[in-house]
Amino acid sequence: MKVLLVQSWLGGDGPPVYPVGLACLAASLAGHAVTCFDPNTAADPLGGLAARIREFRPEAVGVSLRNIDSTNTRRSVSYLPPFAAVLDTARREFSGPLIVGGAGFSMFAGPLMDRYPAIDYGVYLEGEATFAALVAALAGSGGDVAAVPSVYRREGGRVLFSGPAAKADFTDLPAPDFAVLPLAPYAAVPFGVGVETKRGCAFACLYCPYGFLNGRAYRRKAPGRVAAELAGLQALGLTRFTFLDSVFNAPAEHAAAVMRAMIDRGLTMAWSAWFTERGLTRELLELARDAGCDTVIFSPDAYGDTALRALGKAVTRAEIDAGYALVRDMGCFDVSYNFFKNPPGQSLGQALAMLGFILRARRQMGRRAHFELSTLRVEPHTALAELAGREGRIAPGDDLLEPVRYGQKRTAYIEKFFDMFLKARGK
Ligand code: SF4
Repeated sequence: MKVLLVQSWLGGDGPPVYPVGLACLAASLAGHAVTCFDPNTAADPLGGLAARIREFRPEAVGVSLRNIDSTNTRRSVSYLPPFAAVLDTARREFSGPLIVGGAGFSMFAGPLMDRYPAIDYGVYLEGEATFAALVAALAGSGGDVAAVPSVYRREGGRVLFSGPAAKADFTDLPAPDFAVLPLAPYAAVPFGVGVETKRGCAFACLYCPYGFLNGRAYRRKAPGRVAAELAGLQALGLTRFTFLDSVFNAPAEHAAAVMRAMIDRGLTMAWSAWFTERGLTRELLELARDAGCDTVIFSPDAYGDTALRALGKAVTRAEIDAGYALVRDMGCFDVSYNFFKNPPGQSLGQALAMLGFILRARRQMGRRAHFELSTLRVEPHTALAELAGREGRIAPGDDLLEPVRYGQKRTAYIEKFFDMFLKARGK
């Protein structure tokens, strides 16, 4: 079957990020003719998509919707209008099965199927095995479409769901095919190309849908396999990448084994990753440095034990300080922090301490310390959505397609204070 895989368009918001999901899907579609298109790197995103459909004449089109908006960022941008434009363009040019999947789709699958009748099938949660089975069924070589697990479909004007599938083991999945799109447009962006060493996250942060999307149990790639994938990327000319793992150094022994495999392979690419301060040691950071890491990203989200507990973060203020000191003293890393301005459990004292931490780090590390201060977005399938429901901030059945922001009401002035602080710094 001829399959066109399309990354959903972000409408020009932000730099392009390599659609690793499409690379994973393409690798899973052995025996089919597959081509990929990313409107985010095209001079004419929709015109380019239309032209690609006319030229390739696909028999199935898959659209990957990673995010429906800019989530926990300072500036709220909805990606649904450009997503709708991609669907409209595809539907105008092509009458065959139009399939949508990706993390953004999976989180809002029912509401998106209702809102966009152009979608024929929806692939729910991890797509490799499901998409391949659906394409095989559509091609007539894989049994009944209705029997493929983890698929939304339409029948008699109704949306039906076939039921969830078990999560795939990495050993059963082929390596992503990074040759499906040229790397150059993404290589110029610091976090443009991502690589997984595992899926799953054992942590349970209040606001995070990652456990819903990828499970709480870690499913690891063999370290040698990660190093081989990276060697392939290096051979394609890539000089830096980022690890996409929820938290790279949890479990720490897997991270260490991956880094040792990278060193053994003689890789020279620079990289960044999300780290937790919990259990972080100088030894592990030295290994990271030797394996090419130049940017350590932390997401403590708050700087005070009450707020950290309310956010469900598995880290304390003392651990945040200790992790920062380790990174600062080694002198070879940039460090990035994500904080929420006014999360649950926030207080004036903790907010001022957070500000003090930021100013101290900027004084000590200068431009090598980066900070993002943002506001929580209530996502479905999270404990924050349950909290917002209990507090009456969202109505029962609210599909949350339109962003609902969450700040602690009694300290709303802290949000305003940080907004003024950021404005004064030209952000
Ligand atoms: S925010 Fe990060 S550490 Fe927390 S649950 Fe989500 S992926 Fe895991």
